[in-house]
Amino acid sequence: MPTIKADRMSAFVSDIFAAAGCSRAEADRIGKYLVIANLTGHDSHGVQRVPRYLEWKRTGQLHADREIRIVTDTPVLAVVDAQRGFGQSAAPQAVEIGIRKAKAMGLSAVALRNSGHIGRVGDWAEMAAAADLVSVHFVNAAGSSLVAPFGGVERRFSTAPYCVGVPRPGKTPLVLDFATSVVAEGKVLNASFGGKKLPDDALVGPDGTISADPHVLYGDYAPTELRDYRKGKGAIRAFGDHKGSGLAFMCELLGGSLTGTGATEEGRPFANGMLSFYIDPKVVDPDNFFPADVAKYTALIKATKPIKPGGEVLVPGEPEERMRAERGKNGLPLPEDTWGAIVAAARAVGLSDARIAEVTA
Ligand code: NAD
Repeated sequence: MPTIKADRMSAFVSDIFAAAGCSRAEADRIGKYLVIANLTGHDSHGVQRVPRYLEWKRTGQLHADREIRIVTDTPVLAVVDAQRGFGQSAAPQAVEIGIRKAKAMGLSAVALRNSGHIGRVGDWAEMAAAADLVSVHFVNAAGSSLVAPFGGVERRFSTAPYCVGVPRPGKTPLVLDFATSVVAEGKVLNASFGGKKLPDDALVGPDGTISADPHVLYGDYAPTELRDYRKGKGAIRAFGDHKGSGLAFMCELLGGSLTGTGATEEGRPFANGMLSFYIDPKVVDPDNFFPADVAKYTALIKATKPIKPGGEVLVPGEPEERMRAERGKNGLPLPEDTWGAIVAAARAVGLSDARIAEVTA
């Protein structure tokens, strides 16, 4: 399994997208955010996405260097149409608008519609937290119908992530960021490439059989072949029974229907929709009670007696912070098939074998 330094990998991904026709600035953003996903341990949303992004671009589902269009603009609200541009370009612009409005008004909401894949939603909560704002994000992935609702076996929801970010002065923010399915699709993708195995209850076959086998989602595939979930007959399961399934439904309605992206339906091209709320704690709490109470309560949670001796209770964002430190130092481990698929994609856009060899040298 190759282990690649983060900065080398982001430069390589940038070269791939620049060769594929993105501006250098956009290609750099794609490299940056995909690699942050790997650094934080979310390989599902990392560089393994390169071949699929290129395929979407090639087939006209995703466009290089698209300008965002502001559909609605009030002092507290914006509707931003990404017009099927890369999410790594559209999402930071939408977040920036939300930050600016919340700084001015104490509170803001931004609906991002028709975006290319926005990757790890935690990136956007971290961006808001870096500006000292609390944020809440409801997201859907229209067209990517993969998840069976509670009690059903057919695909209806996307993996519809939900995310909340809480800033902490002088510390990394608390970031709760998860797909409302047992696993994100990228984790099935990663498992299909020989990565981490899925939980036993992650998938459901058309006859109701519970499974952890990626073939349930992708059907038959060769090792480095692009995975295509249209070939499989099963679904990912919504997490947390009726509660997780209900949250997924609301992510579809708020992130999808309300943003104008549309709730998930099979057969549509891929688009992320994201409804985000930004709150300035300094306006809600002029006495500055919030940071100290967050610190006190976080410490109380972490001091909970663990179930297993030697175990530990973690808070949201903590596993990512640790993984970032570890992988920042030691590099990103990539399964052979994932690396093979990226190399094939790099060759297809014209990168030389000498350039490819530099990455693992
Ligand atoms: P996950 O199951 O790994 O859960 C991650 C969350 O749980 C984080 O907030 C993490 O800090 C917290 N966490 C993990 N272990 C913990 C522990 N032991 N104690 C306390 N907290 C803990 O995440 P996931 O559902 O696989 O999602 C992975 C990524 O996929 C997310 O970044 C999500 O935004 C992204 N995603 C994106 C899309 C999209 O369309 N763009 C769709 C689905 C998911």
